[in-house]
Amino acid sequence: MRKLHSIGILGGTFDPVHFGHLRAALEIQEQLRFNDMRLIPNKQPPHRDMPLASAIDRIEMLKLALIGTSFKIDSREMERNTPSYTVDTLMTLRDENPTASLCLIVALDAFLKLPTWHEWEKIIQLANIVVVPRSGWTMPTVGLMADFLVKHSLADPEHLCSFTAGKIVQQKTTALDISATQIRALIQTGHSPRFLLPNNVIEYINDKALYDPARSKS
Ligand code: ATP
Repeated sequence: MRKLHSIGILGGTFDPVHFGHLRAALEIQEQLRFNDMRLIPNKQPPHRDMPLASAIDRIEMLKLALIGTSFKIDSREMERNTPSYTVDTLMTLRDENPTASLCLIVALDAFLKLPTWHEWEKIIQLANIVVVPRSGWTMPTVGLMADFLVKHSLADPEHLCSFTAGKIVQQKTTALDISATQIRALIQTGHSPRFLLPNNVIEYINDKALYDPARSKS
């Protein structure tokens, strides 16, 4: 099967970016060999509180974390003044790349919540989905998402990049039980977040006192 130009997409709040995101992105890139791997930070996440760190700070942290990698930051959601709906992002990516294999990477927690996303059924028409494990979550065996998986599953992930959209693969990655919530909580309670995210990102957080309790909304 002919491999198409392929774009891996990892969207998120990245408040802050951490080794859970970075390791999953790296392992998926090595397994599926996308031509292009993009991290897309959202501006106004539709399903959650606004991020504590500003858009600029979250982009700066991503830039620091990605030094020495070939991954790119795609800031299109930051440039829109509308909620960061994945379907809108994929539509613009599709307009720019009509024949590319678009591969949306989502961890299992996010995959299971997919039906709550805006126009979620359009997502699989616009992109493939790569599901990666997340500690504490298991693949559904019955119900809506189990049926969705069966309907779109592609047996051989090697062929994913031959499809522009419509396929789902499950890829194994090292499960790192790290979340941005945990990192913010550690900092807010005076504990060290070291070894959960890159040192240069920690230095940036410290310099700007990003998650200090005084700045916290809660
Ligand atoms: P928060 O704790 O603030 O909700 P988060 O750590 O889940 O943040 P997000 O920026 O919301 O990070 O996540 C972006 C994407 O990365 C989502 O698909 C999410 O499931 C995935 N992801 C986050 N943490 C990990 C991890 N430790 N391992 C694998 N995937 C992860």
